[in-house]
Amino acid sequence: MPSPEGRRPTDWERNTAGLADASWITADMAYRRRALAEVGGFDERFRRAYREDADIALRVMAAGHRLVRGARTVTHPVRPAGFWVSVKTQAGNADDVLMRRLHGPGWRRRAGEGPGRFRRHLLTTASGVLAAAAYGAGARRVAFPAFVAWAGLTAEFAAARVLPGPRTPEEVTRMLVTSVAIPPAATWHRLRGLLTHARAGAWYGNRAVLFDRDDTIVHDVPYNGDPARVEPVRGARKALDRLRRRGVRIGVVSNQSGVARGLITRADVRRVNDRIDELLGPIDVWEICPHGPDDRCSCRKPRPGLVTRAARRLDVDPSACVVIGDIGADMRAAEAAGAHGVLVPTGRTRPEEVDDAPEVAPDLRAAVARALALLAEGRSR
Ligand SMILES: [Mg+2]
Repeated sequence: MPSPEGRRPTDWERNTAGLADASWITADMAYRRRALAEVGGFDERFRRAYREDADIALRVMAAGHRLVRGARTVTHPVRPAGFWVSVKTQAGNADDVLMRRLHGPGWRRRAGEGPGRFRRHLLTTASGVLAAAAYGAGARRVAFPAFVAWAGLTAEFAAARVLPGPRTPEEVTRMLVTSVAIPPAATWHRLRGLLTHARAGAWYGNRAVLFDRDDTIVHDVPYNGDPARVEPVRGARKALDRLRRRGVRIGVVSNQSGVARGLITRADVRRVNDRIDELLGPIDVWEICPHGPDDRCSCRKPRPGLVTRAARRLDVDPSACVVIGDIGADMRAAEAAGAHGVLVPTGRTRPEEVDDAPEVAPDLRAAVARALALLAEGRSR
């Protein structure tokens, strides 16, 4: 960031210079395409160049990737800006609301950001509004101290911006005027963000939902080796997409003893799974047990092998996984691996399996909602 010659930098120049030490700014940043695809790319709810880069960095790192600093440097000159630029940039306060919704209250620290001035802006605005309202209502004894508080906070803010700068009449005027306008602008944009992003859900990152295959995401065709007979259960695509939008990783854990019994080949299973991938969108990890009940393997559900292997491949702790299945063996495999289980019974699920299940949901949609709630509990721990 080239600094001006022979004078101290203006407020705008100092702000731009801050980018020189910022982590992950997109001015010179390269991501592997696969990592971007994995987290779903940039979040278009960030409408301006402000927090979109910190957001994607936090999501990519939550997915288990690392960001490393390279050796290349770029020159980033300060772009010309008008009188009101420092007021206009307050629009970023709305993006801060979305950051908090997505990444929780600790997002500033994790993004390498300082605490910001918003609380003081809010206090300044509240004092000013109180002073004006009390004055209008004739309550001078309230109006005067409120006005003094507003004036003091505003003066402190203006001084903090004027003192390090060039102190030319033009810069001083600009700092005084905008220091009055910034606190209400920041408050307004924060409010706007709260309204716009009221329904934005948390980003889950290093969490996963592992689905049983047959009679959970596709209708069971016993020992099916024919992709043409794959038929998803109702709402499966929507339920999986909902997880993808929230950053939850998706796996399938399935017993296919038809392989051990010689009824189907591994290649048949793969073809069927490819067809499921095609119909239900990309599944991050497939774990299949090809063994029979007497093979004493460690993977056949109700044993935990498929769940622990899928979790390891996704780089997610089993306790941050929910297993959704239609029978007791799915629930027991989840429990044995240290994951949560949610049962979606079908007509073939036995009543005692329903009674023993840790959680029961009427359909896949409800099961995914329950899974998100369980993962959110783990997230706040
Ligand atoms: Mg099943």
